[in-house]
Amino acid sequence: MKLEELRDLYIEELRDLYSAENQLVKALPKMAKAATNEELAEGFEEHLEQTKGHVNRLKQIFDRLGKKPTGKVCKAMEGLVAEAKEALEEDMTPEVLDAALIASAQRVEHYEMAGYGTVRSFAKLLKEREAMALLQQTLDEEAATDKKLTKLAVSTINIDAAHEDDEEMDDE
Ligand code: FE
Ligand code: FE
Repeated sequence: MKLEELRDLYIEELRDLYSAENQLVKALPKMAKAATNEELAEGFEEHLEQTKGHVNRLKQIFDRLGKKPTGKVCKAMEGLVAEAKEALEEDMTPEVLDAALIASAQRVEHYEMAGYGTVRSFAKLLKEREAMALLQQTLDEEAATDKKLTKLAVSTINIDAAHEDDEEMDDE
C-alpha cells in the first residue's frame, strides 16, 4: 500500500473514532443516570470527562493535518449504543441492570481500543509522532477504564446480581 493511501485510511479511521467519541459524549450521561451502583455511576461520569478529552485530542490531530474531523458516522458505535438501550429496556433488578450496563460499556471500550490501536500504528508508520503520543494517551485511558469496569463487575456488581438470583430462588 502506498503511503498516501495509508494516510487516507488513517484519516478515515480517525473520523470514525471522532464520530464514535461524540456519540459516547451523548450516551454516557444516560448510562450514569441509569446506573444504581454509585461507584459505577461515578465511573461513567469520570469517563465522560475523559471522553470529552478524547474528542479534543482528535480535534488537535485534525488541526495538524489541516483536515476536518466530521463527515463520517460510526455505525458500529450506533449499534453498540442501540444494544445498550435495548438491554436497559428489559425488565430486571437494579443489580442485574448494572451488570448489563457494564457489559455494554466494556464492548464500547474494546471497540475503541481496537480503533485507537490501529490509528496509533498508522501514525507510527506515517511518522506522525505527536499524533501517535496523543492516540497512545487515549488508548491508555480506554484500557484503564476497561480494567476498572472488570474490577467493579467481578468484585461487586456481578456478585450482587447473582445474589439477587439466589434470593429469588430461596423465595420459591
Ligand atoms: Fe474514548
Ligand atoms: Fe471510552
